Amino acid sequence: MATKGVNPFAMAQAQFDKVAAILDLDEATRELLRWPLREYSFAIPVRMDDGRTKVFRGFRVQHNDARGPAKGGIRFHPQETLDTVRALATWMTWKCAVVDIPLGGGKGGVICDPHNLSQREQEQICRGWVRQLARNVGPLQDVPAPDVMTSAQHMLWMLDEYERIHGGHFPGFITGKPVGAGGSQGRTEATGYGVVYTIREALKLLGLDAAKTTASVQGFGNVSQYAIRLYQQLGGTVTCCSSWDQGDQTSYAFRKKDGIDVDQLVAISDRFGGIDKAKAKDLGYEVLPGDAWIEEPVDILIPAALENQVRGDNVEKIQPTVKLIAEGANGPTTPEADQVIHRRGIYMIPDFLANAGGVTCSYFEQVQSNLNFYWEKQEVLTKLDTAMTSAFKAVSELAEKRKLYMRDAAYVISINRVAQACHDRGWV
Ligand code: NAD
Repeated sequence: MATKGVNPFAMAQAQFDKVAAILDLDEATRELLRWPLREYSFAIPVRMDDGRTKVFRGFRVQHNDARGPAKGGIRFHPQETLDTVRALATWMTWKCAVVDIPLGGGKGGVICDPHNLSQREQEQICRGWVRQLARNVGPLQDVPAPDVMTSAQHMLWMLDEYERIHGGHFPGFITGKPVGAGGSQGRTEATGYGVVYTIREALKLLGLDAAKTTASVQGFGNVSQYAIRLYQQLGGTVTCCSSWDQGDQTSYAFRKKDGIDVDQLVAISDRFGGIDKAKAKDLGYEVLPGDAWIEEPVDILIPAALENQVRGDNVEKIQPTVKLIAEGANGPTTPEADQVIHRRGIYMIPDFLANAGGVTCSYFEQVQSNLNFYWEKQEVLTKLDTAMTSAFKAVSELAEKRKLYMRDAAYVISINRVAQACHDRGWV
């Protein structure tokens, strides 16, 4: 994905190296965990609507599956790169380990821009992706899910292709399916809600009343919208959110000091979470340059768009009012910015902990699909809250006990669990 200067995989490896040193990991385990176990890079030829054939590039990276089948989303993005997929697959390994679910880390992608593709063309990309990988993915090997610019519809096309190839029903092959077609209740809300479960616990530790806090959010997609909804249910006020403007090829922030209205903004957004500027202005929102979300004088910042958004060049714009950052996106903070946040004593809920609600619910979906027995929404959300809260507590208690930065504490727990599984299997 487009990154301003920082390669996300180099960033993921640097984060790992720092904690491998804290843990004094042996050389072989370090070498094994710094790199993916397996990588697939392949071509997907698609007959376009105008009759031409276009060749897209697809990826799947399985970083580690010592604790269970690889798990991770598939992203459609014009700036997708193998290194981004490697980084995201690595983070998935740590994410599944921190919430202690029996899954490993994987990630996939296709270099394409769904803004410029018809539904039929997107369906062909989905089916082509599965055809290339049908023997290397599956309920017992590697279980994909949606990510940026992919949806329940894409998952169902992929499932259909997988089932055609293997001749049977395999709903546990993929998660994020539509409810009623093997999907789990609560999956749509899961990541955003999970972010807020961890915020709720952090606010308790910080001695803050959620109802008296304010927040600013980057992005207005799946994660962002549901995080805002639940945070508002706790009584908090979101003064600002932002989104990508496809026409102008830049981002904008939308501010309303007494609180944004999610339903109102959803009604004027496209299906990719891009908010219509003119309509937002008519509704009384201030439309500001994209980075304005980070400069808001709020208590909480929630980057929930993409990686590399809080960087050396903008981290100093974070106001002294900010006490907590909850990373809804994967890899939103560069190591340089992270040092500044650490030094300033801002409480950090790192990405692979904060946004683990999505994969936790995907795991619940897989369990339900494999059993062919589906749970009520409240049951799913209660289980999700329990899993996220206990993962948060384990990390925050370790951080407190060993005086570690929250990101490092989360890494210590995850890397220890994965390293242990690799040792127990006799891999290293
Ligand atoms: P999405 O495609 O639904 O939404 C992305 C949002 O970010 C859109 O509103 C888009 O306009 C906005 N955006 C894109 N570029 C931007 C920019 N430069 N500045 C401001 N806004 C920008 O994606 P999502 O599913 O909400 O995922 C967001 C992040 O959360 C990604 O990093 C993703 O990997 C991560 N994540 C998602 C899930 C999930 O279950 N959806 C789970 C874990 C992590």
